[in-house]
Amino acid sequence: MADLDKSQASEELVGIRDTLNKYREAYYTNDAPLVEDNVYDQLYNRLLKIEQQYPDLITPDSPSQLVGDVTNDDFNKVTHDIPMLSMGDVFSESELSDFNDRIEKNVGHEVDYNVELKIDGLAISLVYENGILVQGSTRGNGTIGENVTENLKTIKSIPQKLSKPLSFEVRGECYMSKKEFLNLNERREKEGLQVFANPRNAAAGSLRQLDPKNTADRKLDTFIYTIVTFDNLNVETQSEALETLEELGFHVNPTSEVTTGLQGVKDYIDRYDQVRDSLDYGIDGVVLKVNDLSIQRSLGNTVKVPRWEIAYKFPPEQAESIVREITWTIGRTGVLTPKAVMDPVSLAGTTVSRATLHNEDMIKQKDIRVGDTVLLHKAGDIIPEVSQVVLSKRPDDSVPAEIPTHCPYCDSELIHLEDEVALRCINPKCPAQVKEQLTHFASRNAMNIDGLGPKIIEQLYTKHLIKDVADLYKLTSDDLSTLEGFKEKSINNLLTAINNSKSNSVERLIFGLGIRHVGAKAGRILAESFGNLDNLINASKEEILEVNTMGEIIADSIITYFSNDDVKKLISELKSVDVNMNFSGSSNSNETNTHFTDKIVVITGTLNNYKRSELSEILEGYGAKVTSSVTKKTDILIAGEKAGSKLTKAQQLGTQIIDEATLSSYLDDATN
Ligand code: NAD
Repeated sequence: MADLDKSQASEELVGIRDTLNKYREAYYTNDAPLVEDNVYDQLYNRLLKIEQQYPDLITPDSPSQLVGDVTNDDFNKVTHDIPMLSMGDVFSESELSDFNDRIEKNVGHEVDYNVELKIDGLAISLVYENGILVQGSTRGNGTIGENVTENLKTIKSIPQKLSKPLSFEVRGECYMSKKEFLNLNERREKEGLQVFANPRNAAAGSLRQLDPKNTADRKLDTFIYTIVTFDNLNVETQSEALETLEELGFHVNPTSEVTTGLQGVKDYIDRYDQVRDSLDYGIDGVVLKVNDLSIQRSLGNTVKVPRWEIAYKFPPEQAESIVREITWTIGRTGVLTPKAVMDPVSLAGTTVSRATLHNEDMIKQKDIRVGDTVLLHKAGDIIPEVSQVVLSKRPDDSVPAEIPTHCPYCDSELIHLEDEVALRCINPKCPAQVKEQLTHFASRNAMNIDGLGPKIIEQLYTKHLIKDVADLYKLTSDDLSTLEGFKEKSINNLLTAINNSKSNSVERLIFGLGIRHVGAKAGRILAESFGNLDNLINASKEEILEVNTMGEIIADSIITYFSNDDVKKLISELKSVDVNMNFSGSSNSNETNTHFTDKIVVITGTLNNYKRSELSEILEGYGAKVTSSVTKKTDILIAGEKAGSKLTKAQQLGTQIIDEATLSSYLDDATN
């Protein structure tokens, strides 16, 4: 920096401002960041350093002078009388000490800090009048935010009526749990839509939906952490504010602590840095706030940040590996998903050898090539993703990754549907898709045909014994005797399982047909509402929309699906082989998880949401065997917080390790 003269500094600042403002628009307005946060943070810090050296070069459009940035004209605007500010951040213990020194110098003595987790979501404001929620908004540019009251009202943890008739404003973080983030991205990937980069962007995108029904579907949550106007509440410290908020019925993060001086803050940071992977929500650091509100008031704010609080940002957890292959898998709706196959590497508690590349755009944007050394991180602390290519290690003979133009499975030309980023094979007879569809039909959450997995489907299909799901019901023992390793007992078992599935209540069939956007839960609601399949087939769009939670997209998809002639033929064939078409009201969905069936599972560490004994019972209900020590035979280790030697052993043995968030998402899949 010392070598920068003023004109060089000015020139560099123009470039940095432009780049940062481009990143900010993508991040705040479009909820689709172009780069990882640490890349943004590094450039932002460079800007701050240059501006510190040459303060007269600071311009009003410098990111150092702006809070967020939002002007989605689809929402009405609200004015924040008391601005919603950003927050200063530090990245090392020495910067943390500098902050503490400044505070102590200003105040004249050591202070108490209330230390909190920095939740990876977006800030919201909630205004109550006489105890009734009257307005909810986003931070926007700090002074003008978006009015998202109706959307916020769909979030269960936000009280719409308080136990006391208070008139005041509170603020907090709206976030998406890791489990929901994982599910949402999986759904979007399957549907060929752009995935969200992290839970923060997913929460922001979900809250800023024009139709509140869509927000409701995304299952957002909140942690409220600030009382802005006090309405005679007897509150003198931040910790008392949190207690009061909790008493009033707000969802308050339970981890905050009051500590004097810096040592307690450092201990807190260490503790949560270690367990952050196992929390159900994303955090990107720790916030320390001077606890005494009168000291907060006397310290005041800069134009952009309060002087009495600071965020300590965790370093990103990264690992390096080499891409050996890029493979394209196909789902039952024809979407092709690229995956990078890499040398195995340990990353944030698990061994990673594959990372989803989501779609063609991502491969092109990041220019990921076979042979490249790449940096990996876990999006939302869970999904392994390629952050960037290490260009200095790129082999000389490297060539850009090949994007297929034709389906690797049936050679049909691939296309992009409407605004989809995904490549799609639209050949309904594509064998890979048909096999995926057959596997889905037989799966536990659908028709639950025990023993009919992908390998057997592959054989049946290749031998031309089945071409669609109706053919399953026409299979004979002679047909099955041609399968590898099939003897009398296995033949009878499979025929019995297929036969039993005929009497399933119809929600399983509705889900099993694989209608776009109709998941297991929607299948059940539709079955319950319409009573049988014919009523659903004959229902008008309006009648489907009358069903609670059914929106336009699902209704359109159902109408389109059942108006297809091939589908009509399929349904009549299913009827002719006596597959039940009625809702019988019984649900055996608890038996439906596939992930733990016949698996040997060990549980270790502290879990936040399950007691060990209860979890063992649940897992055993899904067909798992829960044992106490990790051996070569162990299939899955469920690792909670502070997991010790069992985790190390599982890592050495290459056992699959899942954290609590992933566990919850698997358990959820079972009942969804
Ligand atoms: P910030 O998100 O770093 O910090 C302020 C926010 O923290 C508050 O508005 C609040 O929403 C949140 N918060 C979470 N937990 C809190 C708690 N317990 N108490 C108080 N507040 C809490 O600041 P910012 O100005 O919103 O955003 C700047 C950050 O956003 C950057 O550091 C960068 O990491 C990221 N960013 C990334 C890109 C990109 O392209 N990747 C672009 C712009 C910004």
